[in-house]
Amino acid sequence: MMDIMVRHPERLTVGVLALQGAFREHKQLVERIGAKVVEVRLPKDLSGIDGLILPGGESTTIGKLMVEWKLLEPIRALGLEGLPLWGTCAGSILLAKRITERGREMDQDRLGLLDITAVRNAFGRQRESFEADLAIKGLETPFHSIFIRAPLMDDTDSTEVLSEVDGKAVFLRQGKILASSFHPELGDDDRIHRAFLGLMEQG
Ligand code: GLN
Repeated sequence: MMDIMVRHPERLTVGVLALQGAFREHKQLVERIGAKVVEVRLPKDLSGIDGLILPGGESTTIGKLMVEWKLLEPIRALGLEGLPLWGTCAGSILLAKRITERGREMDQDRLGLLDITAVRNAFGRQRESFEADLAIKGLETPFHSIFIRAPLMDDTDSTEVLSEVDGKAVFLRQGKILASSFHPELGDDDRIHRAFLGLMEQG
């Protein structure tokens, strides 16, 4: 999948969910590639976007705000229609059907579009934040990845796993949906953003 590269970024409009968390960093990277960015705060901001990025932050807070601002249902509907979606860290948790933390089922608001279990704060206290050079399927050289109180993704049978840490998925794809446990927007390497824009380009 990661060999998909964007050809005409200037023709694309990328929505970035801008309720809480690291949305500005995504915006900057996407704009640097040459696509237009819409900060999504209200349902009307969703019209005309070619794909949507759900940033990292605090998944319980973002989920609550999505309900409050009446974004949860419209984004779920767009995802079901095949709009490309990419969740990073908290964003990947919001995409998951099932969410657990320390073995307990969480009942927080979510989109529930990805058939996986997101395990919140899966790396424990010792490795709350860390960086790693990850091998990612389809990328020729490792991707320097930043993890911050990151989730792992379990029960991934119906997805294509693109990268793992300790034998557990930290990056995967299901159709037009991408989920990464780490934060590609906090580095300088724009290869994953370019690949996501490439996915959007395929319509
Ligand atoms: N630990 C956060 C959560 O569970 C995610 C952290 C992040 O997005 N960097 O929502």
